[in-house]
Amino acid sequence: MEYRKLGRTGLDVSAISLGTEYLMEPSPEEVMGVIHEALDRGINYFDLFWPQPWFRDKMGAAFAGRRHEALLAAHLGAVMYDNQSGVSRDPVLAERFFHEFLTRYDTDYVDLLYLHNCDQQEDYEALMRMDGLLGQALQYKAQGKARFLAFSGHTVSTALQAVQSGHIDVLMFPINLVGNAVPGKRELLQTCAAHEVGIVAMKPYAGGKLLQPNQVMAMESWQVGGSAIELRRAATITPVQCMAYVLSQIGISTVVPGCKNVDELSQALAYWDADEQARDFTLPLAGFQQAIRGDCVYCNHCLPCPAEIDIGATMRLIDQARIVAADTILTPELRAAYAALGHNANDCLQCGDCEERCPFGVQVIERMEQGVELFAG
Ligand code: SF4
Ligand code: SF4
Repeated sequence: MEYRKLGRTGLDVSAISLGTEYLMEPSPEEVMGVIHEALDRGINYFDLFWPQPWFRDKMGAAFAGRRHEALLAAHLGAVMYDNQSGVSRDPVLAERFFHEFLTRYDTDYVDLLYLHNCDQQEDYEALMRMDGLLGQALQYKAQGKARFLAFSGHTVSTALQAVQSGHIDVLMFPINLVGNAVPGKRELLQTCAAHEVGIVAMKPYAGGKLLQPNQVMAMESWQVGGSAIELRRAATITPVQCMAYVLSQIGISTVVPGCKNVDELSQALAYWDADEQARDFTLPLAGFQQAIRGDCVYCNHCLPCPAEIDIGATMRLIDQARIVAADTILTPELRAAYAALGHNANDCLQCGDCEERCPFGVQVIERMEQGVELFAG
């Protein structure tokens, strides 16, 4: 297992973690099997948004005696109405379900407390109030019941505001091959990196659709900022390719595939033993790339480079250093990562070989020149 920093929390988090949305149906024994397998294989981060008491009870039993090995992520505002799960901004109801989380997981605190599932501007304004759930979450943090605050959602505009608010340390956002075309996503990731907000990538399989054969992916109009589009994929896609895409994107601390059994967990963790060929996601991505061309996806399909530049890694750092509105945020960590590359943009011979091989029309030479400028001095 590889561990990455979870942004400014400073926590070390397993790069592949566990989403638990598909563990509602399995029996307590099966759930325990998945959680213990995950812990045994080095996973230390668990997203736990379901509010149902029976779900929390079997999860609580699975973590019994192993709480210290796990970072538990709870969601403030994930509640139940009429025996069904839902979202609420009512502080009284949210409080009840938060304290019930602590009781059923038999713990005094959560490691991350998410402001849960916010996608609309009006909802954002209601959520991020001191007399609303934000104020309540800050109180829990001050009381030691929540170590860090986070925000989950699916819309770039509200996620961006949350990141820029300064209140949250971690963002959970959908990152997957089909979502590569979502306008504004790249800027959102760059902004997270600039503010040292850790990113937890959810929906790496796009809700399972990426792994189903002959699936045509539809993107809603709210995702693409206008009219809905249909994206046709070019090839069969594997969990390893999905993991490879997500883990190569800017600022990703961890990805949380939803696994309903040990076999599905193993399919995600197979990423660690996969070779470069098995990880190569360029062919499936090409089918989803109609909406944008010219943006690097860090796939390294353009190698080899005569100057021995790891082009994907270099481009990722250059993108991290370029920030919306042409501001440049060069943290010491970014500079150190750039220096550690060994060969970087300064070594580019401008031969153009990579541009011929890039399936996504990236102007590598121009971007390398930008990199030289950004990291100069
Ligand atoms: S330049 Fe093209 S081929 Fe190279 S890493 Fe970026 S997207 Fe991939
Ligand atoms: S243009 Fe630069 S980065 Fe691309 S292959 Fe040639 S030397 Fe490498």
